Amino acid sequence: MFNKILSESETHDFLALIQGAENIVVTCHVSPDGDAMGALLAFSHYLWRKGKKAIPVVPNIFPDFLKWMPGTDQVRVYEKHEEELDEVLKDADLFVCLDYNEPSRLLGLEKPVMASNAPKLMIDHHLNPADFCKWVLSRHEMSSTCELLFRVLADVDGVENITNEEATCLYTGMMTDTGCFAYNSNRSDIYYIVGRLLEKGIDKDKIYRNVFYNYSADRLKLMGYMLYVKLELFPEYHASLMTLTREEQRRFSHKKGDTEGIVNMPLQINKSKLSVFLREDTERKVIRVSMRSVDDFPCNKMAAEFFNGGGHLNAAGGELTCSMEEAEQLVRVALKKYAALLTGKCKN
Ligand code: 5GP
Ligand code: MN
Repeated sequence: MFNKILSESETHDFLALIQGAENIVVTCHVSPDGDAMGALLAFSHYLWRKGKKAIPVVPNIFPDFLKWMPGTDQVRVYEKHEEELDEVLKDADLFVCLDYNEPSRLLGLEKPVMASNAPKLMIDHHLNPADFCKWVLSRHEMSSTCELLFRVLADVDGVENITNEEATCLYTGMMTDTGCFAYNSNRSDIYYIVGRLLEKGIDKDKIYRNVFYNYSADRLKLMGYMLYVKLELFPEYHASLMTLTREEQRRFSHKKGDTEGIVNMPLQINKSKLSVFLREDTERKVIRVSMRSVDDFPCNKMAAEFFNGGGHLNAAGGELTCSMEEAEQLVRVALKKYAALLTGKCKN
């Protein structure tokens, strides 16, 4: 049975916020992935078909392999047009916050959004939401923000009104946030929703090809290099570490999104529990930390304790301001601290 996600009063308040707004700004987290872009665009399409003025704004550029998504030509990149967008943001009378739950995930966009008195509406699936939105739907058990957004649209406007474009965006987010339904995707509701999206005429095979068979040759070579040269194994911990410097990214003509998915690959090694990936950011002087795990190993706990971050049980991230050598050392310390969980000698 597929239940409503919103109560009567939540539905009422949601619609009142939308109906009361004239200039809506839709946002998602920095370095948007398929789920963030899917939710951003699906929500924007919903507003446009309701006759609303809505502008999708992302903090920084999104990957080329998501450019085919319907509506990307309307997306404004804050980092590229700060001054012009500051004017737009000042006029906003509603902010929609999708796939993030703390303002810091907006990077430079945080300041103008938080300076505004306009109400904010959050739809998100991460743990521990910060208190900055008037209307909040935060469900960490959801596979993706797009799954959650499908349910919201179903409740506030009816599944029958969801368009092919919206369905395409929602499916993209559900597919990418579950690694093509390989993890976080055991609930039968997910497939009920996929069924409804297919009824909208989406081409899920084409969506798959658009996202995953759309890379440059350099990206494939980078992947080979990472696995052959850069993969460091810690068999005693069932863990692995990969690092990528700025210079190496230059060597492989790195573009936004090229490293997406690389952190998942070492988990293919049998008995693997944890994969850690350290990458020097190309825009800011920080090291981005990405972690993936299987079963009950809590990446989010390790990310919060060691890498100034957080996230989900099996997928988390963070940021370090030290050197790569120091970051690698920190990973070793973290592995040691979590040895019991990694070697299965103690249950989480
Ligand atoms: P990724 O490895 O794809 O960059 O991030 C995986 C997940 O980790 C994200 O969906 C997000 O939940 C979380 N995450 C990544 N970076 C950060 C960060 O800097 N801070 C926090 N709190 N969470 C992060
Ligand atoms: Mn997500």
